[in-house]
Amino acid sequence: MKNISSYNFKNKRALIRVDFNVPLNNEREITDDTRLKAAIPTIKHVLKEGGSVVLMSHLGRPENGFDERYSLKHVVNHLSNLLQTQVDFVKDCIGTEAEAATKNFKPGDVILLENLRFHPEEKKGDKTFAKNLSKHGDVYINEAFGTAHRAHASTAIIADYFPNDKMFGFLVENEIKSIDKVLHSPTKPTTAIVGGAKVSSKITIIEKLLSAVDHLIIGGGMAYTFVKAQGGNIGDSLVEDDYLELALKLLNQAESKGVKIHLPIDTVVADAFSEDANVKTCKTNDIEKGWLGLDIGEKSVEKFSKVIEESKTILWNGPMGVFEMKGFQNGTVSIAKAIARATEKGAFSLIGGGDSVSAINKFDLADKVSYVSTGGGAMLEYLEGKDLPGIAAIKS
Ligand code: AMP
Repeated sequence: MKNISSYNFKNKRALIRVDFNVPLNNEREITDDTRLKAAIPTIKHVLKEGGSVVLMSHLGRPENGFDERYSLKHVVNHLSNLLQTQVDFVKDCIGTEAEAATKNFKPGDVILLENLRFHPEEKKGDKTFAKNLSKHGDVYINEAFGTAHRAHASTAIIADYFPNDKMFGFLVENEIKSIDKVLHSPTKPTTAIVGGAKVSSKITIIEKLLSAVDHLIIGGGMAYTFVKAQGGNIGDSLVEDDYLELALKLLNQAESKGVKIHLPIDTVVADAFSEDANVKTCKTNDIEKGWLGLDIGEKSVEKFSKVIEESKTILWNGPMGVFEMKGFQNGTVSIAKAIARATEKGAFSLIGGGDSVSAINKFDLADKVSYVSTGGGAMLEYLEGKDLPGIAAIKS
């Protein structure tokens, strides 16, 4: 496999699939430029090594071809500022104009192509479309981990046209290294923290983690299904009754594998799913009717933090409570802080999955953990052990 650090980019056109799917407001201004910033090291590296760069990405979910709201032209100025280089924009990602623009390219030039998803062929993984895109580069770099679990034309199919000149960008390389480290070569003890709303969406991951970790901390809405399965009273808390049996099975599986499961012992309950509700703290297995658990309590924070701070490898996916509401964010903030403290003491910590990433950003702790994954769904699928098309296409 080719490697971005050692590849000779001199006079080469690097066609880079980036993830510039940034949030825009009604004025079409970028409200969070994390994804643009994340791709800068790879782009700068190619330019420094004497190459030129053609960038391609999707933005949003356009339904029927061109839609001004989703045009990548909205990112050109900000990207130029970040790169301190003028980025040229081409109004279509394929066709004569685009081909002419990328053909006579000089080292140091940067072009951004228009939204790939203005062509339905992109999501269909169309071969001809992929071949047309491939004309823009001499070498292909996949720097879009967030879409690596999709077999789209620009993320997977295109790699066939670069049999000897395809590689990952720094970002994807780091994502893979970080997840592999947690799954395959962790320093022990290893702790996974899972939370969020539903058990049903995390079963495969929990099962996979049971073979990789020493401790599994379960918080958030999903914890109540486990507590009820063990006979506890959970009042009106979130529960998936269809998964009670499976929850018990997972607990048994954990025991037979020697994995210690930690469930919340106390819970912040409210009499409504609302910021203004009445709240109190009670035992997680003794919640009265009319009350619902919306965050883990202080005793649970203490218990979980102790496990986290004694760990050497930590993976966190999913909030401990309804952290979007101020009154129920303490559990999630405290766990994030415990992970930061463990990291300071030398642990490797990986934060992944949409909501834990928003939480860690919201509480300004992103630079206090080892790695914050950019690919929500893709990271979860990789953790589950699935072969991601975007990764397989480069490795094969
Ligand atoms: P997920 O996408 O499955 O990771 O779930 C994230 C969502 O779970 C967030 O929006 C949280 O507000 C929600 N959540 C966390 N804890 C609870 C809880 N105890 N009750 C209801 N929703 C929760």
